[in-house]
Amino acid sequence: MPRKILLVYAPFCMPTVMPYSTSYLKGFLSNNLNVDVHCLDLNAKFHRMRFPQFYERLGRTGDMLSQGELLSEFDAAARPLYAENNKRVVNNAQPELYKELLSAILDKNPDIVAFSIVYSSQCFYALALINALKKKGVNCVAGGPAVSSKIGAHVRCMKNEVELLQYAAEKFGGDCKKFEGKAHNCSTVPDFSDYNKDDYLTKDIVIPVKTCSTCFYKQCAFCAHFADVAYLEYDLENIKRTIVKSGARSFFFIDDMITKQRLMEIAAMMKPLKVRWWCQLRPTKDLLGSFKELYDSGLRSICWGIESGNQRILDLMKKGTIVEDIKSVLKESHEAGIKNTAYIMFGFPGETKAEFLDTINFLKNNDANIDLVSPSIFGLQKRSAIYKNPGTFGITNITTEKRTVLDERISYKVEAEMDREYAKKMRGKYIKMIRKINKLPRAFAAYKEQVLVYS
Ligand code: SF4
Repeated sequence: MPRKILLVYAPFCMPTVMPYSTSYLKGFLSNNLNVDVHCLDLNAKFHRMRFPQFYERLGRTGDMLSQGELLSEFDAAARPLYAENNKRVVNNAQPELYKELLSAILDKNPDIVAFSIVYSSQCFYALALINALKKKGVNCVAGGPAVSSKIGAHVRCMKNEVELLQYAAEKFGGDCKKFEGKAHNCSTVPDFSDYNKDDYLTKDIVIPVKTCSTCFYKQCAFCAHFADVAYLEYDLENIKRTIVKSGARSFFFIDDMITKQRLMEIAAMMKPLKVRWWCQLRPTKDLLGSFKELYDSGLRSICWGIESGNQRILDLMKKGTIVEDIKSVLKESHEAGIKNTAYIMFGFPGETKAEFLDTINFLKNNDANIDLVSPSIFGLQKRSAIYKNPGTFGITNITTEKRTVLDERISYKVEAEMDREYAKKMRGKYIKMIRKINKLPRAFAAYKEQVLVYS
């Protein structure tokens, strides 16, 4: 009997997209081990069991607006339920559908259960399941960008897929490895075949694709998103195989950033496949003149890291962008037929009221070229450049508060007038005006891939 590794994606996160992390791990482990590897998306299963009324309505949501309404209503129903269940885990009580989800794992009779934790909101349910599985003598491990130190206190956490491979080889005996010593087959094609399409709250499946190891830019002062690893571009031939094998027609490039050269290489690879795709970019001048070619390759929507309409703030952020170029990029992209989403960050340390209003005016003046605004408020992230040099940005009194499941909560003070609360108040004051700009449903700021379903 071959040994079994079960890759689990825990509640709670958005149930509209199949997970990339477990699908990638399955592809890598299957290439390198003689074992059965299976993916189990408990997040999607939880949502389908707990919110059947929204899944039933899916068939009736013919257009984009009704899907937007459905997702807004779903969000309003789901968020309080997430909070309530997380509280139960903190209080050592069982979260909802706990027995059903535990059985879904045990039914597969796994030798190793590996939890992939991409969002911190997954830590709670993952912890509850890990504790139950350990009591039953099942080997559990965890990994992923959002694994908290509390999870690390309960199970061994893996840095990457190679560590997981080595762990499995130790448990199952060296002869389960397909290659000797440190050699690996890294020609990975993520495998999405284990999931049930009906578990996803979308009319059409959108497949996530990753083309590089991390953001190549890594300079934005507020950012802790990028992984602390070398920038590596994945083989485009494997990406093409992923797309063809999935059989889907919409693809969501989840990279934080893509270089211009790589973007055009991707476009050339995508064009003959006649599919639609989405990506995230910084609005830089080098992209001008490329949008017609990008649209013709199937690129239908871009989320732009605009952040601010004030040059001093962009420079402080080290965003590497210029306000006048951003306007031209949005205009050209729009004229090519691409839907533009603007990521905006209010309350960057040192931002003044006048600079906040520059961003509001930027949005107003470029309304015709913006399809959706995704506004956020600055928050201090532990690995960011600001956290490492707070004084340079006028940040004082950084304090941390311990939490039960998640890592510490960070609080701070800013010397300038615009602190977090003031930024929230100002955003509240202008939110109606910001929402008027939206041509896409507001819910698509969270369910970003949905724009592809209606393109
Ligand atoms: S904000 Fe985006 S472009 Fe800037 S460093 Fe982070 S991931 Fe890279």
